[in-house]
Amino acid sequence: MEKDAIRQVLAAEAARLAAIRDDTRSASELDIDQQMESGGEISVADQHPADAGTETQYREQSLSLLEQIEAEMNDIEHALQKLADGTYGKCDVCGEAIGDERQKELPATALCIDHARQRDEVAVSYRDA
Ligand SMILES: [Zn+2]
Repeated sequence: MEKDAIRQVLAAEAARLAAIRDDTRSASELDIDQQMESGGEISVADQHPADAGTETQYREQSLSLLEQIEAEMNDIEHALQKLADGTYGKCDVCGEAIGDERQKELPATALCIDHARQRDEVAVSYRDA
């Protein structure tokens, strides 16, 4: 793929993610940014326990979705950087070619299939710990 075409794909993906992020934020009645800044639990003392549970679950879902979107947007940012410095298409870890098929499917990925698997396994073991 040509660099300009890749840039367009990445820019379109970034715009799509930004739209989802904004939807998620506005769909939530809670100010997630504020919660993140204060780093604490929002008081649920005034709420019915069942409602609080549902809202907590919803908030956690929104937060993890937002975190995922942020991570994907970071990947896109990183991919654009790699395009600029000429390392796009090469694995961040081993420097081997990521492969046209994989890069086409995951334009923002910075890892070959082997290292992507390794990273996922590491992430999973951290989560389980
Ligand atoms: Zn690699």
